[in-house]
Amino acid sequence: MSGNHVPVRIMERLEELHAIGGGTRAGYSPEEDVAHELAAVWMREAGLEPAADEAGNLIGRRGAARVWTGSHLDTVPNGGKFDGALGVVAGIEAAARLPDAELAVVAFRAEETGPMGSRRLKLLPAAFIEVHIEQGPVLERLGEPLGIVTAVSGQARGAVTFEGRAAHAGTTPMEERTDALVEAAKFILHVRECARDGALATVGAIEVEPGATNVVPERVTVAVDARAPTAEGLAALIEAIGFEPTWSSDPVAMGGPPLEALRAVLPSAPELVSGGGHDAMILAAVGVPTTMLFVRSLNGGASHCPEELSAAEDIAFAVDALTETLARLSASAAAGV
Ligand SMILES: [Zn+2]
Repeated sequence: MSGNHVPVRIMERLEELHAIGGGTRAGYSPEEDVAHELAAVWMREAGLEPAADEAGNLIGRRGAARVWTGSHLDTVPNGGKFDGALGVVAGIEAAARLPDAELAVVAFRAEETGPMGSRRLKLLPAAFIEVHIEQGPVLERLGEPLGIVTAVSGQARGAVTFEGRAAHAGTTPMEERTDALVEAAKFILHVRECARDGALATVGAIEVEPGATNVVPERVTVAVDARAPTAEGLAALIEAIGFEPTWSSDPVAMGGPPLEALRAVLPSAPELVSGGGHDAMILAAVGVPTTMLFVRSLNGGASHCPEELSAAEDIAFAVDALTETLARLSASAAAGV
């Protein structure tokens, strides 16, 4: 691999994308359209032929394009500069460095609300690798610039309601209250206790009725988000917490030639499980050999906010690794291996 020069063009392109909507580019919005138009120009410069598919995904192809890379250009409201955009810009940069490789770079639509675009992708890539920021603090804590993703956690979401009895906060003695929020508070601590061995459990939303300072809470609903790297782990977590999921997704394992090639290129990189969903997860779930390369997130892993940050040197390292991995994958695809 080449040295870790600061990738000026990549950093400039991330700034250019961020300027569109000032960090707010919703899926299928005019801002996302503009970002796709800009990416199409960069794809052409890199020797790719850009075209939109039925779902509006922008796909820049070269030749047989048996190896794919990319990510998304939509953001959460007031998002950062790196989530999604880095994977697209890095892919275009790698494609420019490999002018003979038959590959494709894709910008998926509406990842943050679905993902919608990758779910509707018709023509499946033979192999896919996505560069993405970690969006968590693990690599920063390990002191490692890059990590290899081996699986995406399964998730389950649901709500639990606690019933009490509304009463006057000033006249009802403590021993005569049935306070729904006190029971909910015990449950929230229990949810936290249940998350072990790489599993994660969160209560991130709570609704209190009637929700007045001077009324003992009558009804409280808490939202539960549970995640685990394996199906068994997720089932055990749901059972331990004791809630009925109203929505869930299975854990997805990364694998095949993309994972093998990435491991060969970065033999000492730590391996991680992604707790967040990604376009790569959608492709892996339908059987495309897939992996992800995580780039260290700074600021304690801040993401989905303007504080989101990755270092230019880490990004340079990631683009070098992506380029080398795509070179290996497209060479073996061309040789029919
Ligand atoms: Zn993303």
